[in-house]
Amino acid sequence: MELGSSEAGRLSVRIFVDPDALIAGTLTIRDEEHHYLVHVRRQTVGASVCLLDGHGRWADAKVVSIYDGSTELLVDEPTMVGVASFALTIVPAIIKGERMDQAITKMVELGVARICPITTERTVVRLKGDRAKRRLDRFESITKAAARQSRNPRPPQIAPIQSLAELLVAPPAAELSLIPEASGAAPLLAQALPEAKPTSAVVLVGPEGGFSAAELSGAEEAGFVAVSLGPRVLRAETACIAIASILAFRYGDVGSI
Ligand code: SAH
Repeated sequence: MELGSSEAGRLSVRIFVDPDALIAGTLTIRDEEHHYLVHVRRQTVGASVCLLDGHGRWADAKVVSIYDGSTELLVDEPTMVGVASFALTIVPAIIKGERMDQAITKMVELGVARICPITTERTVVRLKGDRAKRRLDRFESITKAAARQSRNPRPPQIAPIQSLAELLVAPPAAELSLIPEASGAAPLLAQALPEAKPTSAVVLVGPEGGFSAAELSGAEEAGFVAVSLGPRVLRAETACIAIASILAFRYGDVGSI
């Protein structure tokens, strides 16, 4: 069953809560969620809210009381949102600041099922120790905000940052594994897509400087098929958007695992 227009409280304010907290009865929300509901969205007592656990469960709720640092909600019985029958995992090489934020935001809007950020030979951004952790936290908070804004009840999972070499040791399992590359030598994406709808695909996207020749052949050895997105060189974030849009158009949706 696909997500219908009347489902998941389409028109009410959406709040993500812990899966464990999403049960019928009263629920108190604090911190960021309370602030978002009361100060950003200016909801008052009696307002309807849609609660989501980020894993496909949701429930309607009503605002019962508002305090200084918390809001009390009365929560209905949770239900499961529909599951799309095609899941897309995008594996983007991390690119510089703003552009990576954009790439993640757009992938969440388009409904991508999973994002596995990687570092590659030509990754410009340095991500040692604490920095990698901070970057991942940022990706997660961007995902949450984009999911709220785009009313995506099942935001993508963000995998821990790893190198392309690490990822290729055990690549995400999928029926269709693609590596878009901008040299113009590869066949067009349209030609590489099977007629019969696969249930999953995984797509590697290179950084600003592209993949090295060794990385390309390593990925091909691991089963990835090189494809072209057309005669122009796209920015990495544009390539992510194009892939998600094309596959959503072709297979109906790109969003679940
Ligand atoms: N200077 C690099 C361009 C990198 S663009 C080069 O010439 O390879 C960043 C990434 O976006 C690429 O690694 C590739 O994965 C993807 N990409 C951009 N344009 C593309 C195209 N026309 N076809 C396929 N992939 C493309």
